[in-house]
Amino acid sequence: MKTIGMLGGMSWESTLSYYRVVNEGVKEALGGLHSAKVVLYSVDFAEIEMLQHRGDWEKTAEILAEAAVSVEKAGADLLIICTNTMHIVTPKIEKAITIPLLHIADATADTLKKDGINRVGLLGTRFTMEQPFYRNRLEEKFNIEVIVPNEEERRIVHDVIYRELCLGKVREESKERFLAIIDGLEKQGAEAVILGCTEIALLVNQDDTGVPLYDTAVIHAKKAVEMALERA
Ligand code: GLU
Repeated sequence: MKTIGMLGGMSWESTLSYYRVVNEGVKEALGGLHSAKVVLYSVDFAEIEMLQHRGDWEKTAEILAEAAVSVEKAGADLLIICTNTMHIVTPKIEKAITIPLLHIADATADTLKKDGINRVGLLGTRFTMEQPFYRNRLEEKFNIEVIVPNEEERRIVHDVIYRELCLGKVREESKERFLAIIDGLEKQGAEAVILGCTEIALLVNQDDTGVPLYDTAVIHAKKAVEMALERA
């Protein structure tokens, strides 16, 4: 079994989900007392969040590239970054390491394609919904059409992520708002909705709606397990 390298803490609330899913995945595949081999580097999210909102992606890239190098040195055979947003700086991180990086949008797109989905709604931070690094990858590399909520809805989603979910707060009112936004995306033609922020599944899950939801944290962590268990 290969060792999974994880850059976590963005936020730690969702890193908990990743840690659970990789261990459950290995246990399911190998049985008994088997568990995942993991090297986890968990950052101080306050520092990252401040730089994000200042637009200092250069500095976030430096911090994460240095962390990724430590993870590789500690014995990881592959790397996952446990957040959608910070995939903005994957080109810098990939340059710093020699192990493969499993991109969260690729893992998600593969799953969507397997399910025959070609038009999706995307929920995430403003950075993920508005900047090209994520949408363009889905559209250009996988030919998946992406629909995002309107400006006001994007503001709501972004604020709930940073002011509530990343702090472990789950509010019924926010859940209702997210479900209304998900319904709106379906009305605009989305066949499914990507939970493109690793904390959103703390708030809404498949039992809450008939619209198919794709939880990027779970998909990403499961793909990492597949990679870890692949025969060389
Ligand atoms: N975990 C979130 C994501 O998947 C947001 C936190 C962050 O900015 O990294 O995008």
